[in-house]
Amino acid sequence: MPEEIAPGIYRIPVPLVGNPLKELNAYLLKGEDGALLIDTGFRQPACREALFSGLRELGVRRGEMEVLLTHLHSDHSGLAPEAADGRTIYVSEVDRPSLDDQDYRSRYWGIMDVRFREEGFPLHLMARMNETNPARSMAPPSGGHYEGLTDGQILEKGGCRIQCLLVPGHTPGQMCYWLPDRGILFTGDHVLFDITPNITAWPVMPDALGSYLESLKKIRAYDPALTLPGHRKTGDLKSRVDHLLCHHQQRLEEALGAVKDHPGRGAYDLAGHMTWKIRASSWEDFPVAQKWFAVGECMSHLDHLMALGQVRRETVGGKAAYYAI
Ligand SMILES: [Zn+2]
Repeated sequence: MPEEIAPGIYRIPVPLVGNPLKELNAYLLKGEDGALLIDTGFRQPACREALFSGLRELGVRRGEMEVLLTHLHSDHSGLAPEAADGRTIYVSEVDRPSLDDQDYRSRYWGIMDVRFREEGFPLHLMARMNETNPARSMAPPSGGHYEGLTDGQILEKGGCRIQCLLVPGHTPGQMCYWLPDRGILFTGDHVLFDITPNITAWPVMPDALGSYLESLKKIRAYDPALTLPGHRKTGDLKSRVDHLLCHHQQRLEEALGAVKDHPGRGAYDLAGHMTWKIRASSWEDFPVAQKWFAVGECMSHLDHLMALGQVRRETVGGKAAYYAI
């Protein structure tokens, strides 16, 4: 059921079945100049049904809107080509190649496979992950007409003036969209209120967590009357940013502690010595997808500790080993 959350701005909840994020917030901006859809849900039946029936209720059919994506992840971008149906899909220029360049995407997964192997992620689990990872199996089909956006660019769409704010971290090209005339901020997955946005390692961001922390400080300077996140509920932006900054500080200390207690290990073993909010009796019993995200998050913390000069990494016989400095 779509709800009008501000004049001309509607939220369409899109269920993410079996995913801990539970649901995605798609937003529709309706103006006299046309309609603009922000984010879409996975390319799978439950999402398709919820999104398009919500749009129908709001009087908008496929191909009657342009699409604006907050970032490349498939829970946000999966249905973009179907919704736009030949019209423009806007996304940051940094994230665009992951969506419309198949070679870029294969290169990305190749580099990530090498990194996870170096960090000690077991090969049989990697094989299982590669079969089931929604980022691979539910990525948007090629063929959408994408247009890249840059930091600070202004779009006039859906009856709104929209300023693009590049906030790298969660993905290299994550964008927030700011409506200066309305005091409304769309945060995508940069700031979420009841879940901590996942930060992992990226081939094009040597220090993803460092970029994320800088981007949190950038967005903290805004004073929105209404903040609209990509998942679940809204809240107070500044206090949430402060909480996230504090959370990552504690996680950095925990990661550094793990390196000190277990020198010479890779991120797979080190992640097993950090605490996670997952119901499993031991690290060995973690579901494979949760292990994948945990190791990715651990890598981003190790990369940031290296950037801070507190940790060094050696690669011996194709295996990563971290040491405190
Ligand atoms: Zn995301």
